[in-house]
Amino acid sequence: MLNNFVIFGVPRCGSTHILQLLEQYLVKKYNVHREDENEFFNIFKKIPNNLYINHSIIKLHTWATFNNLIEYNLLNNRSIAVTRENNVEMFASWLIAMETNQWTLLAKDIHNKILPKKIIHMSDTIEGKFNIIRYVHSIVRFNYFLNTYNLPVIRYENTFDDIKKLYPDWEAPYRREYLIKQNDHTRYDYIHKNDIDFFNETYHRWKNESNLDWIDFSAKDNLYSCKAPWVSMYIGPNGDVTPCCTSLGIKLGDTNNNTLAEIWNSNASKKFRNEMTKNIPNINCKFCYEQEKHSDGSLRTFLNKQYDMPTKNLSLTPQLELKYLDIRFSNECNQACIMCTPKLSSKLYDDAFGFKEYISKFQDQNYISSPDNMSDEDWKKHKGIISISSKTINELKELLKDVEHIYFAGGEPLIMKKHYEILDFLIENNLNEKVFLRYNTNLSTLKYKNINIIEKWKLFPKLKILPSADLNGERGTYQRWGFDWDKFKNNWLEIKNALPQTKLGMQITISSLTIGYLPEFLSELKKIGCNNMNSNFVHGPADLNPQVLPIKLKKIYTNKLNRYISKTSSDVHKKLLHEAINFMNDTNNTDKKMWERTLHRLDFLDKKRKTNWKSLWPEFIK
Ligand code: SF4
Repeated sequence: MLNNFVIFGVPRCGSTHILQLLEQYLVKKYNVHREDENEFFNIFKKIPNNLYINHSIIKLHTWATFNNLIEYNLLNNRSIAVTRENNVEMFASWLIAMETNQWTLLAKDIHNKILPKKIIHMSDTIEGKFNIIRYVHSIVRFNYFLNTYNLPVIRYENTFDDIKKLYPDWEAPYRREYLIKQNDHTRYDYIHKNDIDFFNETYHRWKNESNLDWIDFSAKDNLYSCKAPWVSMYIGPNGDVTPCCTSLGIKLGDTNNNTLAEIWNSNASKKFRNEMTKNIPNINCKFCYEQEKHSDGSLRTFLNKQYDMPTKNLSLTPQLELKYLDIRFSNECNQACIMCTPKLSSKLYDDAFGFKEYISKFQDQNYISSPDNMSDEDWKKHKGIISISSKTINELKELLKDVEHIYFAGGEPLIMKKHYEILDFLIENNLNEKVFLRYNTNLSTLKYKNINIIEKWKLFPKLKILPSADLNGERGTYQRWGFDWDKFKNNWLEIKNALPQTKLGMQITISSLTIGYLPEFLSELKKIGCNNMNSNFVHGPADLNPQVLPIKLKKIYTNKLNRYISKTSSDVHKKLLHEAINFMNDTNNTDKKMWERTLHRLDFLDKKRKTNWKSLWPEFIK
């Protein structure tokens, strides 16, 4: 018997088409009819056994809402199908779960450590048997429960036959090719604002009823909770405030409309803190979880280790005593890095509007859209430059006495007036010896007007500088347009000589363009005596993620990196390359469309910049 059932789609996953199938199935089986497109959602709610369908939630661009819905439904014993990017898998999982009511994984089971019921695992479906596992893993700790509780998993080895058994009329027209041809994302939009409100209200009710008791942030099984909302703040160039720079899709407030004190205890902040006490995956923190999977730490693990905090009776409205500040004064920058966005680099602004042709083809709207709190018109009026207000800087100064760690990144902090204003404030108030400063900089210059940054830095004994560079030579310039390896190298060596006590290293961003040339770059770093490096992987833009490289290229690069590993004596290099290999090969589900998009991006840039990617990455065309 069917109980409650929810189907979620992720952006552009094709779930509209699944609803098309679902509609036909329901019409036949339950005799419900679509009378009016706008009423269709209500009809779903009326059908027997309380079938409930949720769809296109992501159209509202609120990952937090999406996360709420998942949790809400888990906690209310609803069955959930969570699938990704594969129509057939999605339909099969929906249909089988609905008909057999077997796919149930309940949060109360998780919390009470009761063995959940069986889970259906769609293996060996048409594309990407990893899709479901990967997605469920990120939401309900699938692998963790599998290992911990030895979950029974039902494998459906031949999904087509299984579907046919349940729904014989289902046939080829609904296969992927057909659906792609019919692709129309605007036609089916069943979700109504009222339904979202209903979910949000219920979710909040449930949250308020739950007890906030304790959490041990340092415990080994603290896989998901994070101290960030109690100790840290990220202020973006447009004034948006989030707990940290890596949290995705969550906004705690906006300094243009609220004071920092108001934002610190805004409803969004309270809610996020509450979520962080549950030790369950948070969709906004995917970046940290991924980073932990492929390296030995993330910002989450750093913050959890670094700052003392009570583990009991945590307050959802703590006093504003900021410990960790991540501030982006402006998006002003003198480089246009390929993996950045105009919201963080003014140099990319022109590209962004030039990118419209590319965007309309690939629908990567996020790349060119103006900041949330700014109209396209204003964005153009400011020529793509945004910065936080002086009012916010003044509020910040009040907080600096508590701050232990400031992270400056860009835009390019070394060309920003407000950056120097904060340094001067710290010096004038004798806070310079107490505070730890960390930088990501493109190191294009060490001078700002008549200020020599090295002279300022000499007054800060706790200083870590991780300049950003990923490749030397022409490839380096291609990835970071405006970058000049020789100039960068000279500036790096000047700092090394002038500030021998400073922790100086390198921040390496690993994209599909850089991964194959890491050995050459690491050899260059060895020559200048750089042995301290951090790496991060490009997750977005998605087409620059090394995981989208075709299998053939992955093999070539894996062999090349392994050859370097076998020869080098540097453990730091070995570790970095092992992580890069693991990350790149984490999925063998290479998406051909995404790779096409990579090449289109390069073509587009070549046209604009008169460059020639084919001479730099000839292996891409073989
Ligand atoms: S887990 Fe990571 S992304 Fe989430 S709040 Fe903490 S530091 Fe930020």
